[in-house]
Amino acid sequence: MADIIKLLPDHVANQIAAGEVVQRPASVVKELLENSIDAGASTIKLIVKDAGKTLIQIIDDGKGMTDTDARMSFERHATSKITNADDLFNLTTKGFRGEALASIAAVAHVELKTRPEGQDLGSQITVEGSKVIQQEPCATPKGTSLAVKNLFFNIPARRNFLKSNNVEMRHIIDEFQRVALAHPDIAMQMYHNDGELFHLSSGKLKQRIVGIFGGKTNEKLVPVKEETDIVKISGYVVKPEFAKKTRGEQFFFVNNRFIKSAYLNHAVSAAFDGLLPDRARSSYFLYLEVDPGSIDINIHPTKTEIKFDDEHSLYAMLRSTVKHSLGQFNIAPVLDFDRDRSLDTPYNYKDKFAAAPQIKVDRTFNPFENVAPPKKGVQMPHFEKPQTEGWEQLYEGLQKENIQAEGSKLTYESEQVTGDLFKSGDTAPAGRAGGFAKAEATTYQLQNKYVVTTIKSGMVIIHQHRAHQRVLYEELLKNITLASSVSQQLLFPLVLSYSPSELGLLLQLKEGLENTGFLFGSIKDETLEVTGIPTALTEAEVPIILEQLLSDLENEVPDVGFSQTDALAKSMAKSIAVKTGERLDETSREHLVNSLFACKEPSFSPSNRTTFITITSDELERKFQ
Ligand code: ADP
Ligand code: MG
Repeated sequence: MADIIKLLPDHVANQIAAGEVVQRPASVVKELLENSIDAGASTIKLIVKDAGKTLIQIIDDGKGMTDTDARMSFERHATSKITNADDLFNLTTKGFRGEALASIAAVAHVELKTRPEGQDLGSQITVEGSKVIQQEPCATPKGTSLAVKNLFFNIPARRNFLKSNNVEMRHIIDEFQRVALAHPDIAMQMYHNDGELFHLSSGKLKQRIVGIFGGKTNEKLVPVKEETDIVKISGYVVKPEFAKKTRGEQFFFVNNRFIKSAYLNHAVSAAFDGLLPDRARSSYFLYLEVDPGSIDINIHPTKTEIKFDDEHSLYAMLRSTVKHSLGQFNIAPVLDFDRDRSLDTPYNYKDKFAAAPQIKVDRTFNPFENVAPPKKGVQMPHFEKPQTEGWEQLYEGLQKENIQAEGSKLTYESEQVTGDLFKSGDTAPAGRAGGFAKAEATTYQLQNKYVVTTIKSGMVIIHQHRAHQRVLYEELLKNITLASSVSQQLLFPLVLSYSPSELGLLLQLKEGLENTGFLFGSIKDETLEVTGIPTALTEAEVPIILEQLLSDLENEVPDVGFSQTDALAKSMAKSIAVKTGERLDETSREHLVNSLFACKEPSFSPSNRTTFITITSDELERKFQ
């Protein structure tokens, strides 16, 4: 038999390696940013066109490369960062595999211009699909500029596999933010299609966080600091009262490298235990410094996972350090000597829009009633303002036991129950008109969670939150599609602050939101002006709804069309719907039952969960045998 084993040609081997290193435009951004940092750059500019599908360019003022190095850098396993295997256990650089440039050049058109200090002329190299097309001297500033064009031009399957520009851009911004947060001392800029997305000057960590997430962030941060034999912990956590419902900014850096660790995340969550409202998630920017020899970052190709020698102690230390910081903050204002005074709130306030104070009159309030008045109708859900909740959380731990004990009891409205028990005795439920057409049957609420009513064949138990979501979802879907909603104009526009990336997302959803009844004024400089809102909402609910929307659609903003409408309707229905734990009065209960069974698809919530169950008289009978 003839020999059949051959060595793969370099360009094929590189393409295969590229599959691991370059998954999407954001992977290129990450590798190039890391190279610039390893090259000691103090200024880095990132230019992106069409979410990186057309162009990703990085310009740095780092140490540059000589002619030969420039040529060598595109070879596989060509690296200046390690020379032997032992170095792997003592890494101080981001890169070490020597694969990135070779892989990128295998699947794109790459143009490199670079000049080291002390050399008059730099070199320019053009590589297309691993082939060097041209190399010549050129005049270029000190440092390196690397342009990656037409990513995956030679692998159509990979190019087609890329997600929409919105999704790819989201990934790129994530990578940019991670690197920016790890290196506040490096000035960084980012442009997308000629618009500037970030302009971060070099400074302290706090300035960097504010530069990325917007001016309001400053007042939300609590510093964290601790030093032990095995780890140095520093950074900030976001005060519990600013915790977000479903999404937080959660960043861990180990030796200035962004990592993901569910285990360490758990340690931080544990420190917040009892301080956060239900389902809220903490936000944090935490930096751990450990001996490079005590970690292994080599276990994952994209290097966001890490293995620690002593995870257990790290967990304990992280938890107690964060807890300590939060405790300090709860007792007295934290003294932060590193604070940059220019970021203090009063100075920002001078240009801020002054909103008129709102006066809210609760007409149903009865000082002699010790139970909170039930709501007028399910159409008008009530939202607590998050800010005013803050102080109570301090005592939450103390009250928890009582609340739980109460919550586990079945809560009936005692008066009504007695009255109705007798009533239902003579007007037997099964004798009623039956069917789902109109609920004239008496309704009950069980545990502030279920609505119970009778039908001809037995009884129905409705999950109030899911059922209301279904009702609102169908209604919203119709409104958005037909663009038929009515708005209520606000006397004073509501001015809300968002980070640039969040604003970008909202901008994409603008049309859909307008179809539900929102009206927008100016959208600029991290602020969104809301001038009109859907009639079914109150002003106080608006920030919560938009927040929910942002967290629901964070990574996957569907392109225009049905899927966007659907996502919008789902998210809004979720935030407007009555919650589990809310007490509903009789009118609301009846309204909910009637509108649920008027739905096209009453049996499931928009997220496909059961909205109601029925128990037939037969089933009941069997139970009593
Ligand atoms: P690695 O970063 O793992 O060493 P890369 O393929 O990313 O591998 O880069 C190969 C080499 O090219 C690096 O080791 C470095 O010497 C050089 N290099 C890459 N980018 C730059 C840059 N922006 N400035 C200076 N040198 C660079
Ligand atoms: Mg590299």
